[in-house]
Amino acid sequence: MIHPRDARRLLMDWFQSARRDLPWRRTRDPWRILLSEVMLQQTRVSVVIPYYERFLDRYPTPAALAAAPEAEALALWSGLGYYARARNLQRAATEIAARGVFPQTYEEIASLPGVGDYTAAAVASIAFGLAHAVLDGNVIRVLSRFTAETRDVQAQSVRVRLKEEAQRLLDPARPGDFNQAMMELGATVCLPKTPQCLLCPWRDHCQARALGREQELPIKGRKREPVKLQITLLLVERQSAGKRFVLMRQRGAHESRLQGFWELPEERDLPHAVRGVRLGEFKHSITRHDYTIEVFTAKLSRAGRGHRWIAIDALDSLPLATTARKALALRDELYTP
Ligand code: SF4
Repeated sequence: MIHPRDARRLLMDWFQSARRDLPWRRTRDPWRILLSEVMLQQTRVSVVIPYYERFLDRYPTPAALAAAPEAEALALWSGLGYYARARNLQRAATEIAARGVFPQTYEEIASLPGVGDYTAAAVASIAFGLAHAVLDGNVIRVLSRFTAETRDVQAQSVRVRLKEEAQRLLDPARPGDFNQAMMELGATVCLPKTPQCLLCPWRDHCQARALGREQELPIKGRKREPVKLQITLLLVERQSAGKRFVLMRQRGAHESRLQGFWELPEERDLPHAVRGVRLGEFKHSITRHDYTIEVFTAKLSRAGRGHRWIAIDALDSLPLATTARKALALRDELYTP
């Protein structure tokens, strides 16, 4: 088994030449690091970059986000999904602004709303050079292969062991770079289905590779089958005073998700609507639910309760549910010559 010091050196030498130049890697500003880490949860780097830049343009400090109306922040986040992240980030920004200084210990960072162990370790190590190892999906995959962990990585005891392993390997002199190197290795080389072992700095020391089991690991508990659902959205438009309006519904505070977001009405909520042209369909997944969503134009003499006519040119300033964005894109296709 390779000594941690040698594993570290191999990894850090590789990272030196292989690291991608990402906007949040050009800073040690904890606010920027926190924003990038929150946005990157469950979301690909290429999707995050434009959101990260727009968000920072508008909210360059925690105080700027703390002072913003929630609807405005959600509108800027709109399309990234997992909106609880945006709400928690604003709550965290409010706490940081109230303190007057960004928290500088792991424990204080971890106590911010919506900040778990992973995010706290990432911010503490990258922004403040504190020796806390991160354990995200990428790191779990790399370490379970590197150490040939054949138990279920979703088990808490296995997570604890992998975290200990990450902490043992961590470079105490450069913990932020080390953590980023581990995540980079998982994101670009130790890929889920096709690990690129020939490009890996640990190829001669990886236990899964030595056993020929790199494609089998990590072992994850049985996944539950997704629930398939079908819904129909209606695009109801009208013209008034030279402007076009579309009927929208805002999700209420009592609803389980996406409170405050705007979406197109569902057909089942407008029993008097008369269907027109079928605009198309798209897929949308939320946790374990796979939706197939059909979109029709429709006519309606009067909007029902809970619905409002919104000018089409004002939609961009509202927090729109992703399903509304996708449905409105079908409308745009219809009107594009
Ligand atoms: S040698 Fe292959 S399986 Fe092992 S850590 Fe590297 S990329 Fe992953």
